[in-house]
Amino acid sequence: MSRTAARNGAQSRQPDGEDGELHSHLQSLDLSSCVTSYHTDPSDICPVCKSARYLNPNMRFLINPECYHKMCESCVDRIFSQGPAPCPVAGCARTLRKQRFRLPKFEDLQIEREVDVRRRVAAMYACCFPSLRALQEKS
Ligand SMILES: [Zn+2]
Ligand SMILES: [Zn+2]
Repeated sequence: MSRTAARNGAQSRQPDGEDGELHSHLQSLDLSSCVTSYHTDPSDICPVCKSARYLNPNMRFLINPECYHKMCESCVDRIFSQGPAPCPVAGCARTLRKQRFRLPKFEDLQIEREVDVRRRVAAMYACCFPSLRALQEKS
């Protein structure tokens, strides 16, 4: 008993009553899958060099209005500093110029963002809902 108390004490909340039940449900939730899907969101990874923004918070994505493919600043520098070059995104190959790259505006990526948000919400919903449902049925 004292061993259990010590373990829960580390989390600054005693598991008693509904709180305890909720706590154990939260512990049984596989939150890591939510976190993983967030971190591997394709919109946060440069499709060219596969750098993830969460590893490099200063990373910025640029788009070109020719095709709206997104890539990180360093890829734009590397690929287009010698002059016009084909878009490196697979299946695109439009000729792009470095000076036309710019930071994406909300309008340009509105649909993309919406899809993203929906996918995240769906992932959270699928991940968290079964436990919440179980909680409601128990109480
Ligand atoms: Zn890149
Ligand atoms: Zn492209």
